[in-house]
Amino acid sequence: MPPRNFTQANSTNKIQLQIDRSPDICPVCHSSVVPIETNTDYCTNGNAEITYRCPRTSCSRFFIARYTVSSGVAHLQLCLPATHFVTTQPKLVAEISPSFANIYGQAEAAEAQPLSEIAGVGYRRALEFLVKDYLISQYEDEKAKADIRGLFLGRCIEKYVKNENVKLVAKRAAWLGNDETHYVRLWEGKDIKDLKNLIALTVSWIEMELRTLELKKDMPDNVPLAAGTVDKDGK
Ligand SMILES: [Zn+2]
Repeated sequence: MPPRNFTQANSTNKIQLQIDRSPDICPVCHSSVVPIETNTDYCTNGNAEITYRCPRTSCSRFFIARYTVSSGVAHLQLCLPATHFVTTQPKLVAEISPSFANIYGQAEAAEAQPLSEIAGVGYRRALEFLVKDYLISQYEDEKAKADIRGLFLGRCIEKYVKNENVKLVAKRAAWLGNDETHYVRLWEGKDIKDLKNLIALTVSWIEMELRTLELKKDMPDNVPLAAGTVDKDGK
């Protein structure tokens, strides 16, 4: 790569530096790219920065490549802003629990920082919203809804979740989730990945149930009669 003249602090003179490499992944959309260089750069106290723009039309965001400088060479360290992948939750699940989708996304952001201790607590909180919002959507009775809101998560699952598959996975997710918040870890050898897997399974079973309920509503058990026909009772 040709050397680049960087703007300097406290000097009108530019400083020429060799750049070891340009970024090849956009930190915003995470795509492999040849980024568009801008004229904005800066060098001070052994650090150099260049502003780039993502060439993908769907992204087109600016980002900053940060370099450390030694012996006239700028070495690429990282690109900012460091964004993370957000899991897209199934539509039906996100509809009954927008808070779950939101908190889960925040936990993923924490995990990407990496703030894994905080992320675990976030995933546990997301699970509680998922299970409780799902249950509240399933019960008509206001007393039951109030009970669901107030109960500890484990007790809530035990008492109110009727679907055996949801119960099986949600219960285990809650066990691992509690390990993320409590002082003593009961499930040695299990970590945040196992918790995320169990939450994903819980989401899948809840989605299957919601989709099945939708189908039942759309196509009830009674087969409609073709126009102009009568059944054997003459109806
Ligand atoms: Zn991009």
